Amino acid sequence: MLSVIIPVYNEEKNIVPLCQDLLTVLESITLPFEVILIDDGSMDHSQKRLQEVAAWNPSFKIIRFRRNFGQTAAIMAGIEHSQGSIIIPMDSDRQNDPKDIPRLLEKLNEGYDVVSGWRKERKDNSLVRTLPSRIANRLISKISGVVLHDYGCTIKAYRRSVIHGVKLYGEMHRFIPIYAHWMGASVTELEVSHHAREFGLSKYGLNRIVKVILDLIVVRFLDRYFVKPIYLFGSFGLLALLLSFLSGGYALYLKFIENTSLISTPLPLASVMAFMIGIMAILLGLVAEMLVRTYFESQGRSAYLVQTTTNFSHPDDTSP
Ligand code: UDP
Ligand code: MG
Repeated sequence: MLSVIIPVYNEEKNIVPLCQDLLTVLESITLPFEVILIDDGSMDHSQKRLQEVAAWNPSFKIIRFRRNFGQTAAIMAGIEHSQGSIIIPMDSDRQNDPKDIPRLLEKLNEGYDVVSGWRKERKDNSLVRTLPSRIANRLISKISGVVLHDYGCTIKAYRRSVIHGVKLYGEMHRFIPIYAHWMGASVTELEVSHHAREFGLSKYGLNRIVKVILDLIVVRFLDRYFVKPIYLFGSFGLLALLLSFLSGGYALYLKFIENTSLISTPLPLASVMAFMIGIMAILLGLVAEMLVRTYFESQGRSAYLVQTTTNFSHPDDTSP
């Protein structure tokens, strides 16, 4: 089964045409399907439109959030409520094209576990959108080791088995291919079409860049140091101690050998303080991130991912 996951936030004019297009495409493929639409606390008539769509066809399933929790939370809820062995999230603003779904499926069938959409010809304002996103994509590719041109593109296809148990927070839905890669999945990308928004407004401004960068630091931290955070915190601590001995020693040397007053040069102190405070703030942020994760996941985390099983009775079993 194919599950299409669509977050909706104030998209009243887009829902009906989107679902019509989707139905045309999905009925032309042989796979059984469901479309899960998540109303992320819309304040317009989106919910009404969604109920209309659900009434035409029971394959359209609606989840309604009590308030706005964000696109990542909506995608997460959709995945958790879905049944498909293949999962395709996409936007509800009609910027992604349902016609790309069969192409993504074809690519998946070539033997990949994740196929990521690439909006090669992106129809967004170039200066504030496309340029920062280019830089971000380079940076993310470099840091994560998974080279993709367009992390921000929502339309992607996943085999359920490689994202099983992945928990998403903040802006992290864009990093699912990275998690999947770390879990041993084969990841590729495919050019997809992109359309300009006709109705409604974009929900994001430039502050998303900051969130994405911070999430990237978290992802990197979790990959490298989650099991042994002391390697990170400890190394930093030792380095700070070394610096403090060196500078303290030098200050004493100046005082007793060169007869220079300790307080004659306050500027270096101020810059060192600012530097330390900056680093400490980031590290504290990481500690807090760990606490959040412990709180949410202490019940169900797994350190490994199974590729196939044989002679079990559960539905993912691959026995002939
Ligand atoms: N969205 C959501 N919750 C939010 C913000 C956005 O569910 O808090 C949905 C929105 O309805 C759309 C998708 O996420 O389907 C992408 O949002 P948008 O088009 O505003 O982002 P952009 O294309 O400008 O990057
Ligand atoms: Mg959009």
